Amino acid sequence: MSTAAPGLAGPALEPGVTRAMVCGHHHLYSALARGMPAPPRTPHDFQEILELVWWRLDCALDLEMIRWSAMLGALEALERGTTAIVDHHASPNAIEGSLSVIADACAEVGVRVSCCYEVTDRNGPDGMRAGLAENEHFLRSGGRGLVGAHACFTLCEATLEAVAGLASDLGRGVHIHVAEDRMDSAAGERLEAMTTDDWLLAHCVHLDRPLRGTVAHNPRSNMNNAVGYARPARLANRVVLGTDGIGGDMLEEFRIAYVRHREDDVTATPDAAWSWLESGSALFPEAAADRVRWSYEPIDPWHLAFTPGVQPIEVVVGGEVVLRDGRPTRVDPLEVRARAREQAERLWARL
Ligand SMILES: [Zn+2]
Repeated sequence: MSTAAPGLAGPALEPGVTRAMVCGHHHLYSALARGMPAPPRTPHDFQEILELVWWRLDCALDLEMIRWSAMLGALEALERGTTAIVDHHASPNAIEGSLSVIADACAEVGVRVSCCYEVTDRNGPDGMRAGLAENEHFLRSGGRGLVGAHACFTLCEATLEAVAGLASDLGRGVHIHVAEDRMDSAAGERLEAMTTDDWLLAHCVHLDRPLRGTVAHNPRSNMNNAVGYARPARLANRVVLGTDGIGGDMLEEFRIAYVRHREDDVTATPDAAWSWLESGSALFPEAAADRVRWSYEPIDPWHLAFTPGVQPIEVVVGGEVVLRDGRPTRVDPLEVRARAREQAERLWARL
């Protein structure tokens, strides 16, 4: 498959200016989670992190919370120079309409988004069908996105086939978590005959065989969940960087990706992590003309790997200035944060 993506910087651009930063795997719904009440007991492994934290949180979401979490997540991305987000959404008690709520919120802030609903069997057959229907409805009505699936270990064979079949019917890829933890290490075997080049495979930490598609590497999240290191340099796939829901700061994710790579291999250079950051643009060809002017130059992997706090000064998306002098032009950041805080308190009260 082609892995060619235009460089983020270079002679065609002014000094200190890059093309779009892309977050290749995000969960905008998790923006309201920070500061949430502690789980009933301390999770001891990945399965318990899902059960005690994320699957309680996503079940408590309603459309108003989804809207403000997406507004906050999009704002935080824009404030860090990220103009395009590939989102992976779950809200089992507010499925219908959730993807257009997210798409509208991102459009309001001025950030591009590719949406999907993560289909799963964990909430019964009705929940599974509603998730599939939400993907189909959103995409058939012209939405920008992929068909979503949670992870192989929460999808039976028939559900996995339904997801792949819908994606094939719609001419889209599938966005799915793959072998994030050892508990999902059967994913490679189950997906082997199913994946195509337009699939987006998040994590692949414990992937034991080649699959087709783009791999989204999320180094900080992987460390936070103690699932291990994906060692993306071993993969022949196109590799992009994602945050897995921990904000939208792609320069920071690049720094973490580099230092995690270096921890595993002392001969590693920042060029590998930089190439993963650059590859994100292949997911958003329509963002080719987006531009970010930074507070720092040169835009060079060796410089940026060791220069924290580099700020976007101006961001242009689709020809429109959406961030000027470091401030969003379309929304009031204080207002978005205040409204998101109100929704976070509503959400936490339900947990
Ligand atoms: Zn994820």
